[in-house]
Amino acid sequence: MEERPLSDIAYERYLKEEKLMGSRCKECDARYVPPRSICVKCYGSDLEWVEMKGKGRLAAFTCITVGPPFMIAQGYNRKNPYISGVWS
Ligand SMILES: [Zn+2]
Repeated sequence: MEERPLSDIAYERYLKEEKLMGSRCKECDARYVPPRSICVKCYGSDLEWVEMKGKGRLAAFTCITVGPPFMIAQGYNRKNPYISGVWS
């Protein structure tokens, strides 16, 4: 796989390629989506890209009617809300 830095730009580039990528800590195997460059479980900094399988358990979600400027520019508003979720 092509070497890309663990960054938001690379993450969004993978999304445009229809790949859900995260980072995996080589020390403790913790995984993060969106990717982190430092592990919050063991504070290790040796992380690598890992492709997510696309399966998980939805832990929580919310319906957002007043979003950030980027989402408003995409056409989301009070009459056209969007859903954001967290999986575990
Ligand atoms: Zn770790």
